[in-house]
Amino acid sequence: MKVLVTGGAGFIGSHLVDALLTQGHDVRVLDNLSTGKRENLADHTANPHFSLHVGTVTNEDAVREVIRGCDTVFHLAAAIGVRYVIDDPLGGMLTNVRGTEVVLAAAAVAGARVVLASSSEVYGKGRPQGDWQPFAEDSDAVIGPSSVPRWWYSLSKSLDEHLAFAYYRQRGLAATAVRYFNIYGPRCDPGGYGVLARFVSRAVAGLPLTIYGDGLQSRSFTYVDDAVRATLLAGERPEAVGQAINVGSGREIGILDVARLVKALTGSDSVLEHQTYEEVFGPRFEDTRRRVPDVRRAKQVLGFEARTPLEQGISQTAAWWSAH
Ligand code: NAD
Repeated sequence: MKVLVTGGAGFIGSHLVDALLTQGHDVRVLDNLSTGKRENLADHTANPHFSLHVGTVTNEDAVREVIRGCDTVFHLAAAIGVRYVIDDPLGGMLTNVRGTEVVLAAAAVAGARVVLASSSEVYGKGRPQGDWQPFAEDSDAVIGPSSVPRWWYSLSKSLDEHLAFAYYRQRGLAATAVRYFNIYGPRCDPGGYGVLARFVSRAVAGLPLTIYGDGLQSRSFTYVDDAVRATLLAGERPEAVGQAINVGSGREIGILDVARLVKALTGSDSVLEHQTYEEVFGPRFEDTRRRVPDVRRAKQVLGFEARTPLEQGISQTAAWWSAH
């Protein structure tokens, strides 16, 4: 197949490119290298089945050109994470919403299938504690007000899904949204999204591990190889078309416990310290207290289950950080 990966120079995208080339596909990458890096793709520069196109997904002509002839588009390009979108709200919203619309429109014209990288952020705050359960794809989202920057990234990813399914309904675009739950592993940017990347890189360097709030907020973490496997399946399985699918592990863990685990597994003498959300993100920051996926649809539709135990994934990530 001929495949386009937008955001293919980024963390998840570059691992996806590795896997697609190993499977024997022709792979094009469109990336503006804002958070992505050429070095993530360094192994492939001489590969005749690979090409890197430096440009933005908001450029309609560039996107139309690079999609031409592609069977599948994996759309991962985004201003990613709550932090970046708070720092550059307009740029972030426009990249995520306008850029996605440009990609979907071009894919519909080209007759290409689309796998859209969405996020567990689309679930927002989740339900009240007493009524809490893992997030299933069709459960309600509770998003905070538009005056609170915390929710802008969540909303932009949610709107991406709405656009994808609108193109599916009205233009026959074969679209699937994969909702990633805290992906981590080698090449993850510690300055950006990933709390695990931040903890591991700092633990390896012996620097303090900063926990936001009381650290009792919980997440589920997914090793990047598992996320890539699910993403490939989402681009292959006919039953996945028209669906949003959680990609994550069912194991719930508090952030304070993650910090302790990273410290133990790396043998680090980093100290643990706390900062309030307000100190880090400014006033009126709100967080999701518990965030764990319901993984049944991924199993039913994709035959996917996350395989990498957290301890193994952290050790592999730490080994990569030590080597880099
Ligand atoms: P990343 O920042 O490493 O990757 C994003 C890539 O998109 C980068 O290479 C960046 O240069 C590129 N990009 C940004 N704006 C662009 C533009 N206008 N035009 C072209 N390229 C552009 O982050 P990642 O973790 O690999 O995220 C990939 C996707 O997965 C994103 O859509 C993100 O929202 C989603 N996601 C990631 C996680 C996670 O835990 N990492 C969780 C949920 C969702």
